[in-house]
Amino acid sequence: MGFEIIAKDALGRICKIETKHGRIETPTVFPVINPNLLLINPKKLPDYGAQALITNAYIIYRRYRKEAIEKGVHKFLEVEVPVMTDSGSYQLMLYGDLEISNHEILEFQQKIGSDFIVPLDIPTPPDADYESAKIDLEETIRREKEAKELNINSLLVLPVQGSTILDLRRKSAEAAREIGGDIYAIGAIVPLMDAYRFRDLVRIILEVKTILPVEPIHLFGCGHPMIFAMAVALGCDLFDSAAYALFARDDRYLTIYGTKKLSELHYFPCSCPVCTKMTPEEVKELDKRDREVFLAEHNLYATFEEIKVIKEAIKENTLFELVEKRIRAHPNLISAWRLIRDYSEIIEKFDPWIKKKFLYCGLDTLFRPAVKRHASAVKNVDFEKETIIISTDFGILADLYLRPVFGVVPIELLESYPCGHAEIPDEDTIEKEALEMAVENLKDFIKTKKGKKFVIHVKGRWKELIKDLPGECEYVLH
Ligand SMILES: [Zn+2]
Repeated sequence: MGFEIIAKDALGRICKIETKHGRIETPTVFPVINPNLLLINPKKLPDYGAQALITNAYIIYRRYRKEAIEKGVHKFLEVEVPVMTDSGSYQLMLYGDLEISNHEILEFQQKIGSDFIVPLDIPTPPDADYESAKIDLEETIRREKEAKELNINSLLVLPVQGSTILDLRRKSAEAAREIGGDIYAIGAIVPLMDAYRFRDLVRIILEVKTILPVEPIHLFGCGHPMIFAMAVALGCDLFDSAAYALFARDDRYLTIYGTKKLSELHYFPCSCPVCTKMTPEEVKELDKRDREVFLAEHNLYATFEEIKVIKEAIKENTLFELVEKRIRAHPNLISAWRLIRDYSEIIEKFDPWIKKKFLYCGLDTLFRPAVKRHASAVKNVDFEKETIIISTDFGILADLYLRPVFGVVPIELLESYPCGHAEIPDEDTIEKEALEMAVENLKDFIKTKKGKKFVIHVKGRWKELIKDLPGECEYVLH
């Protein structure tokens, strides 16, 4: 498969993926087209920013088999963009057994010329018991092997299952990697997102990323713009959205801050082509079908606007800053994102070392890889002199200056990334934790400089924190 990474930040990246119907640039979202229920004409999808779509091979197989085989899925939907076909495993989760085998649905997807083919995996819902999740997973793996043996002439998407059991998610990812797909899709996560269980979602993504760090990752069923920035920063490349239509049917309006009910909106917080033409009052007066189309169109515009914002942040290397703002949309997003502390190894491995800027956005900024890297790099700086002068005040000539968040910064590094490029609130107003982290890093630094003496000039709020340092320290209070 043609897959090329062209820009990176955090675990996120901008990639190019070649398909039989042209190249797509990720991160991107595949709007879900239900052939039974065409709310938006698939031909119009590129107008909103979509580069590809996803439709359900099982529905087409049951209702439009002959026509779809004759025309191919692109002509059937009257589109030229790449098409992913889902196998019907979602229906399987809802209704139990399907009247089709894995082999049949794979062959059907191939016959109708799908660009991305998905085997009929078994989506195990969250909180399943280990034994049943394991039995489901073994069957999924068997079906993925069967898909691989068919030598499919399209991109093969291999789902990663295993419920909320991380060990099984890892096993699933390992098995899929061994089988060898083009895209790896993390499945059965919709119930987690519906329940705002973002911690479980983040854990699953990061466990899968530890096994599949470079390969393209699709987050199956994730279509809410509120989650995209975080999911991309964790290394997800592809999403699909039924949400734009499902929420529209429910009179709900998607934003990056969460979902709004049309009935509660006084103003549209959006300048997309549809929101600029009408007020919420006017939209409430429309008949059901027109209202649904209006909301679906807005939801698509909002979806792809956020994707562009994320891509720009990747290019500018400000994805951490963006995520730290976006997670404020819901407390569960904040606690979910803070799990990155448990996975700092993989994040540090892929996050670029040099960036243009470092904007402090609050406590979550303390956990960026740049902070940890600085603290460990500075320990390697050697001093020939016996007494080292450290100051919290730039007005005093010193060898090292103490900066909130980072800790000590040698005078030579005051102009370079990250400390020299950091925009941080005044020491009088910044969160105490940012000063505490600096002091912790200072202590670690002193411990590595055995036999040296330290003169430490301390001013302002630092006074209450800088005491009882290890080593031989003289404090000069200002
Ligand atoms: Zn809008």
